[in-house]
Amino acid sequence: MVIVMRSGATEQEIQEIVDLLHKTGLEAHVSRGEFRTVIGVIGDDELVLQVPFQAYPAVERVIPIMKPFKLASREFQDEPTVIRVGDVQLGGGTFVVIAGPCSVETEEQVVESARIAKRAGAKLFRGGAFKPRTSPYSFQGLGEEGLRLLARAREETGLPVVTEVLDVRDVDLVYRYADVLQVGARNMQNFLMLKELGKQDKPVLLKRGMSATVEEWLMAAEYILKEGNRKVVLCERGIKTFETGTRNTLDISSVPAVKNLSHLPVVVDPSHATGVSELVPPLCLAALAAGADGVMVEMHPRPREALCDGSQSLDPESFEAMMKEVTRLASYMGKV
Ligand code: PEP
Ligand code: MN
Repeated sequence: MVIVMRSGATEQEIQEIVDLLHKTGLEAHVSRGEFRTVIGVIGDDELVLQVPFQAYPAVERVIPIMKPFKLASREFQDEPTVIRVGDVQLGGGTFVVIAGPCSVETEEQVVESARIAKRAGAKLFRGGAFKPRTSPYSFQGLGEEGLRLLARAREETGLPVVTEVLDVRDVDLVYRYADVLQVGARNMQNFLMLKELGKQDKPVLLKRGMSATVEEWLMAAEYILKEGNRKVVLCERGIKTFETGTRNTLDISSVPAVKNLSHLPVVVDPSHATGVSELVPPLCLAALAAGADGVMVEMHPRPREALCDGSQSLDPESFEAMMKEVTRLASYMGKV
């Protein structure tokens, strides 16, 4: 249920409702919009029905939320969530490119990648230090050393770092180095980790599970929001279908679908969706056209030498060419 307060409701009137909810044993999530404050009420429906909200003149309306996800829904918050990472704005009309190698390999590789990303106009730098690999014999990432190298790349370029947390036991460690904590597709329903990330104050980039519906994906976001962390960015990265020509199938329709249902920013990862570097630039344009708030792409100074996902990684030249096309379409669409 959402309580819409009258415009001009005072802090004291808002607090009165919050206290009333707490006293009744309900959770209150306050969202202060430009014109109105709304309070999301979470808890037992029976208890909710007992509260005489309409008796409070500062309450304008009480709206039930029919969706299973509440805090992620447009009913709870119609205005788009805007997340700031340094001076980068995710959501609310910008288009942000996140770029970098699949995994951190060496200092030289990671710093060189970050310089290429920065020069071409990417706003955030990505790279995995903990890698979720299908085979236990494949390169698993450099761990903490990889995080240190990511921090070096940030020092060199000023680009904030997005990197994956693979295990709930590593949340504190990754938090110390990262600017955005990534939840990989394979961990989308790792509910314990989602709850832990919900207690952090840094943004979380939540990838869609490869077999997850849009609703399940939003329910995963709800786990993080419910714990208090409102900085969730959704990332569409392709789903499993019968098609074998690409690694996964990019569900571009999920972008406008999620935008209709939720206020959270959405970015698209066409690299893991396709597994093929040539397909990445056109799908970045498709993501932008479909209303995404950004893209996350894999790029490597020498893709043939990559320890992970070389065939889907753009080389510096194709990355720069792609950035030019993206910038052109973004400015045509009035997005920067
Ligand atoms: C990644 O972005 O490094 C990654 C492993 O992607 P996904 O979780 O989408 O497979
Ligand atoms: Mn990868």
